[in-house]
Amino acid sequence: MPVAPVSTLRESKVHIVCLTFDFDTQSGFIARGMTTPTPLSRGEFGLVGARRVLALLKSFGVRATWFIPGFTIASHPRACEAVVRDGHEVAHHSWAHVPPAQQSRAEEEADLVRANEAIARLTGRKARGYRSPAWDLSESTIDLLLAHGFQYDSSLMGADYWPYRARRGDRVALGEPYRPGEETALIEMPISWSLDDFPHFEFVRTATTVLPGLQSARTVMENWFDEFRYMRKTVDWGVLTYTMHPYVIGRGYRMLALEGLLQNLKDAGAVFMTLEDAAAAARERMFAPPSS
Ligand SMILES: [Zn+2]
Repeated sequence: MPVAPVSTLRESKVHIVCLTFDFDTQSGFIARGMTTPTPLSRGEFGLVGARRVLALLKSFGVRATWFIPGFTIASHPRACEAVVRDGHEVAHHSWAHVPPAQQSRAEEEADLVRANEAIARLTGRKARGYRSPAWDLSESTIDLLLAHGFQYDSSLMGADYWPYRARRGDRVALGEPYRPGEETALIEMPISWSLDDFPHFEFVRTATTVLPGLQSARTVMENWFDEFRYMRKTVDWGVLTYTMHPYVIGRGYRMLALEGLLQNLKDAGAVFMTLEDAAAAARERMFAPPSS
């Protein structure tokens, strides 16, 4: 077998970065019953943030994935049309930002269909990808996503740099060993709270808890870049997914820090992709015949 030249070997290493934006606007606050004017305005700031994020992505020539609830499409159509106009992927993030784990199967399916219809009206096609509000799937979610033609999900935390096939029917019982269910054709694009802007930055006070947030944006972006550096050091092929919210990341000092992160990633050779494209690349690798 001929020895591959060094340049080819280098090219066989691919480190993909997916930038994802959950364009919730007011939906998350309404779903939690926070409907007084100030929390609603906090969600409204997502419209300002989205304009800034779109401008930044354009300046880097990067396509991203926007998870847009049906609520945001119906309430803020101009802002959503701008996302489509810039060539970004629009993916499914429920209609009303109610986590599937809190819904019956019938409620979950109705919500899935309603939000998909909103996406089809906005983009001309149904969503290929799904991310659950608050990252809490129900026992039915994987089945429903398969039944409705989804290609990938991005709500689970079972890996960091490699997509995997989502399972259904895992069996758990207290005091019993874990029994994994069957792997499905749905590609899981894993996520993590540590790579989500919300817990790092947002100050949230409820009757029972305080989420302090408000961390240094540059420190968080340094951590996020270290995740990329570790992926590059330890795997030849991988996908790293960052999750952001326009109303969170859209603050000026955070936008400057994000710009710094994108520059560092670009300089370090990151290949930016939408989740849809990265899931397709992962699928090809999973199902490719072994090389001779
Ligand atoms: Zn969300």
